[in-house]
Amino acid sequence: MPTLLIVIIAFVLLEFAVSSVLSWLNGKWMTNPVPKVLEGLYDEDKYRKQQEYTRTNRRLGWIERCVTLVITLVILLTGLLGWLDDLTAKWSHGLLIQLLIFFGIYAVVSAIISLPFSYYDTFVIEEKFGFNKTTRKTFWLDTLKSLVLMLLLGGVLLSVVYLLYSYLGSSFWLWATLVCAAFIIFFSLFYSNLIVPLFNKQKPLEQGELRTAIEEAASQMGFSIKNIYVMDGSKHSTKANAYFTGFGMKKRVVLFDTLIEQLTTDEIVAVLTHELGHYKHRDTIKNTIMSIVMVAVNLWVFSLLVDNPELSHALGGSRNHSFALSLIAFSLLFSPIDLILDPIINGISRRCEYRADAYAAHYGHGEALISGLKKLSANTLSNLTPHPAVVWMDYSHPTLAQRIEAIMSEREE
Ligand SMILES: [Zn+2]
Repeated sequence: MPTLLIVIIAFVLLEFAVSSVLSWLNGKWMTNPVPKVLEGLYDEDKYRKQQEYTRTNRRLGWIERCVTLVITLVILLTGLLGWLDDLTAKWSHGLLIQLLIFFGIYAVVSAIISLPFSYYDTFVIEEKFGFNKTTRKTFWLDTLKSLVLMLLLGGVLLSVVYLLYSYLGSSFWLWATLVCAAFIIFFSLFYSNLIVPLFNKQKPLEQGELRTAIEEAASQMGFSIKNIYVMDGSKHSTKANAYFTGFGMKKRVVLFDTLIEQLTTDEIVAVLTHELGHYKHRDTIKNTIMSIVMVAVNLWVFSLLVDNPELSHALGGSRNHSFALSLIAFSLLFSPIDLILDPIINGISRRCEYRADAYAAHYGHGEALISGLKKLSANTLSNLTPHPAVVWMDYSHPTLAQRIEAIMSEREE
């Protein structure tokens, strides 16, 4: 067995072990008493339901991880990817066409493997706990649309990166980064115009009490927001949300219709002032820059390895060089870096959340924000006692109890 393959398998097992340990820790923590600030959030019946929901989700996550691990190990040990690489090379004339056929098959097979899990999650778990609003027709249409979208966008990006590589050799990474950066910026500006309408309807928020309240609160903070939209989140789920996208002229506030249903005007305004806090601190722009830097680092490391024939051989390839196999081997070799990067990125994100909360509290929306967050959390049966290690590793937001305590101390100052 090639040494590199042994290293790759070790990394796959390491990731499996880390995520299993985290899930196990979370399970152990579940029966802990509810933090003081959250007492009374659930009555006894609802808390039992919440515990069952968390347990059911953990079980599905566990099965999915095991199935994925077994499939990955079988693929690696049998050299199935190398076989697919040889086969697609036989079918196609150009190297670019081979690459696209290879990744097309890879993407479709990956989607088919994850499909039973998302189906079960939507129509068994979410249905049982009263969250699901998706019809089967919507589910299949959405799945198909996401796959086509991924094949199209992924195909275009992959082609450009490959062509740069084939003309420039290993110095392609710099130009490829620029192309990816343009891609990322374009989609953060036009996401709401181009992608969201494929899955949801958005319409401008009508004139009325809510719109006036939002505009007034925003102007108090020195913002003028004209683009306030309502999205039919209820098409998919009862779970509610609000977000802010784009920057500059393209900035837009999107409220789920479910949020408007579940929260009072004051609470919605408070949630939005939190979003404005992100905008004020330029969190959207910082996130975009951070993802571009990550892409650059990935491409640079990949450029150092891409021509090494051992990468292809490790995955069972018979050719001395296959861009497709090198790319997959690289992503498997690079993935443990996430174990280091995830806590850092999530730590930064949690700091941004605290700051956005503090901003809302500073403008007098602390109390409404607390009651809004409590309602949203109770309505989604969220876990009130996650293990600190899980929060540290996986949570992009502080826990509800942490947020409430921070907002309360902000208010007292
Ligand atoms: Zn936030």
